[in-house]
Amino acid sequence: MDYLQQAVKAAKEDMKNGGGPFGAVIVKEDQIVAAVGNTVTSEVDPTAHAELRAVRVACQKLGTLDLSECEMYTTCEPCPMCLGAILWANIKKVYYHSTHEDASKNGFSAEKLISYFNGEKSTDIEFVQICDHKEAEELWGTN
Ligand SMILES: [Zn+2]
Repeated sequence: MDYLQQAVKAAKEDMKNGGGPFGAVIVKEDQIVAAVGNTVTSEVDPTAHAELRAVRVACQKLGTLDLSECEMYTTCEPCPMCLGAILWANIKKVYYHSTHEDASKNGFSAEKLISYFNGEKSTDIEFVQICDHKEAEELWGTN
């Protein structure tokens, strides 16, 4: 079975609901455990990228946070957010078709994130660490 073709099929399914042209499949031992599209628009969720959703579905289906025995097939090179999910889940191999440049040419730019993680550009987000907060420290269970 052509897993990339299955990712394209998942993308097309969610495009019917207004999703972007992105799909991802996760495979373990030659079995598909997740095949989903992008639902950013339909779910009004900027994190609902196909790759991230596929990680969620595969982890829930397999009952594990470790997908190191799985491979991902995706219609586009994963953005930095999805790369984070792939790293958290320990996926070791990702097959993709289109590149970031292809996505950008078609109105789906991840340049802001890519520039930030490449150290080329800072964000306009202000991060403020609050050091003296007992309730937050208690969450670590060491106090
Ligand atoms: Zn993404």
